[in-house]
Amino acid sequence: MEKSLWTSCLVVLLLSPTCLSITADYLITGPRDDKCAALGGICQNDNQYCTGSYFSNKCAGPVTTRCCTKNITIRDTKECKNVMIISRDSWGARRPVKVLPLKTPVGDFFLHHTDTKNCTTAKNCISIVKSIQQYHMNDKNWWDIAYSFLVGEDGHVYEGRGWKTVGSHTRGCNDKSLAASMIGNFNDVLPNAAALSSVKRLISCGVEIGRLSPNYSLFGHRDVRDTDCPGNALYKNMSSWTHFHIHGPGCP
Ligand SMILES: [Zn+2]
Repeated sequence: MEKSLWTSCLVVLLLSPTCLSITADYLITGPRDDKCAALGGICQNDNQYCTGSYFSNKCAGPVTTRCCTKNITIRDTKECKNVMIISRDSWGARRPVKVLPLKTPVGDFFLHHTDTKNCTTAKNCISIVKSIQQYHMNDKNWWDIAYSFLVGEDGHVYEGRGWKTVGSHTRGCNDKSLAASMIGNFNDVLPNAAALSSVKRLISCGVEIGRLSPNYSLFGHRDVRDTDCPGNALYKNMSSWTHFHIHGPGCP
């Protein structure tokens, strides 16, 4: 076919409304969504559940359209030197409904347990962390996973709302404290050595980076609410930790 004929055919095709919209769509979304496809992911609204990890800048459209992969890629928030905090995007956290900034440093640190199965591998811990976020957002109707951090017996800390956001972990104290939840039920047994050492390092890091006051006080959830949390065994153990109850909680 002659070159001019090709051109006129192409012009006719492009002028059809369907064709034009497909072409425009491709020009806008094609190349950028390909970056997500290359990671084996799909572009979706990041308020949705994701089986793997979330990545930014791999999808067309608004910043809330992000790449959700099938597999997990573990990334450290790099906020703390001696403990790895696995970032929200790594574990595929959904975007919070709303975020309230936390005024730091806070004076209180609360310990919880998740009262779920425990986990000794990142894969299992991430699956529990995802299901807790689903439960807190879908069933409890909270803006996000409740805790500032979660700690697994794989020795990793999992970023919840993090250092800078008000949580919904300890009613009455949320805007004055940070909280970590140990993954498992610790009424009869203690978290293993890896988890205990990670949570202690997390708390020290909070002081080092100025999010937790150097004269902070450590509490268990049961100190302010009628609950077993963080479990009998863990509560007994933490009562020998430095900073335990060094001053009363400034909340009901
Ligand atoms: Zn609790």
